[in-house]
Amino acid sequence: MSDKYLILGSGIAGFSAASAIRREDPSADITMVGAENEKTYLRPLLSKTDFARFRKNNIYAAKDNWYEENRINLIKGRCVTEIDRDKHIVKLDDGTVRPYKKCIYALGASCFVPPIPGKDKKSVLTLRTVRDFHNLRRKAMTAERAVFIGGGIIGMEMAWELHKMGIHCTILEAAPRLMARQLDEEASERLRSHIEGIDIECHTGVQISELTGEEAVTGVRLLDGRTFPAEIVVLSTGVRPVIIPAKESGIQCDRGVLADEYLVTSDPDILTAGDCVQCSIPNPGLWKFAKVSGDTAGYNAVHTDDMRLFRVGNFPVILTAMGIGLFASGSTQEEDGIIAEVSCFSHSEDQNHMFRVNHNECGMQTYRKSFYRDGKLCGIVLMGDISEMRNVPVTF
Ligand SMILES: Cc1cc2nc3c(=O)[nH]c(=O)nc-3n(C[C@H](O)[C@H](O)[C@H](O)COP(=O)(O)OP(=O)(O)OC[C@H]3O[C@@H](n4cnc5c(N)ncnc54)[C@H](O)[C@@H]3O)c2cc1C
Repeated sequence: MSDKYLILGSGIAGFSAASAIRREDPSADITMVGAENEKTYLRPLLSKTDFARFRKNNIYAAKDNWYEENRINLIKGRCVTEIDRDKHIVKLDDGTVRPYKKCIYALGASCFVPPIPGKDKKSVLTLRTVRDFHNLRRKAMTAERAVFIGGGIIGMEMAWELHKMGIHCTILEAAPRLMARQLDEEASERLRSHIEGIDIECHTGVQISELTGEEAVTGVRLLDGRTFPAEIVVLSTGVRPVIIPAKESGIQCDRGVLADEYLVTSDPDILTAGDCVQCSIPNPGLWKFAKVSGDTAGYNAVHTDDMRLFRVGNFPVILTAMGIGLFASGSTQEEDGIIAEVSCFSHSEDQNHMFRVNHNECGMQTYRKSFYRDGKLCGIVLMGDISEMRNVPVTF
């Protein structure tokens, strides 16, 4: 009889695990369960797709017949309610039960909603799923003003999409500057002035007091009394790993599902992958981590006597919004022991000749800041033309 592999979650981590299991064990019996009524799709595209041009068929991770061809039994629109580790079964919300020999827990993350008064009012939205996307698009059709709480990449990408529809957008960020974790102060300031230059309002270092309105939201009030009227408020304030089914079954969890360097949880028959993982490599909640960990967990579920260490290189951040290219990778803060070197390139006179100019003369064509530790490149920020990112090392 073939081995039964059960994958919980049909995001990219689950999908990569299923692909790896099929590659390593052609006769495996593979089932993948997901709460969304969708095949696996490219989640990052939800905030990078023109609302008017969005077609669901363009965002799927594989062709329709991939599941059949690879003999992957995909159960869509069903929630995992319980993992019974003694019996090696998983219960779903329709009362059915699925057995496993090896299970991959890849339930991802969900949007964090901070406890702001008024957060439950109508038209206070988050973006994680295709359904959220449709909801946001529908509300955007009639809105004139939108406020984005959280000035991270996803918040900025969404603000850009709504701005293109003619909606007045305001970004409110609690940190003193934009993308504070990914960009040094100077790059952050350049980004901010670029955004304000295209008429998107941007306020940093703010503290939210409440979301105003009766049933539906009418705006955001800050602790300092300022108010920002809006028909839509989007919360883009980070994510939290989905750990409840694991925790309730007795699998060790902390912020995420705890795993060793092979992505095995505290139960040797359950591995984990994706946004829900907490292991020795800090989880950035990014696509590459989810995809590589899914592949590793799938491989290790098959090769239990010869497992592969989970290894993944840098996590570059790419912003494709606001009419600007932005790329950041590695250590990008001027802290102790790190020396930064700025250069700007202009293509204006000769398209093929990029020339270096003094830092203070930068006219914002392409801005590059390289960071060195002990004389060795350890990080880089590119703004403007980011094609050079192809030459940035995968690991520093
Ligand atoms: C709008 C947006 C833009 C992004 N842009 C980028 C980007 O530009 N670059 C980048 O690197 N990353 C980006 N990310 C992050 C990236 O998409 C995630 O890191 C990645 O999708 C995580 O994959 P995953 O499979 O671990 O989790 P998920 O994609 O969250 O998949 C988990 C699945 O499990 C399902 N599930 C949860 N609970 C249950 C349950 N009880 N029963 C059954 N199923 C359940 C969920 O519904 C979901 O379908 C973006 C994310 C979003 C939301």
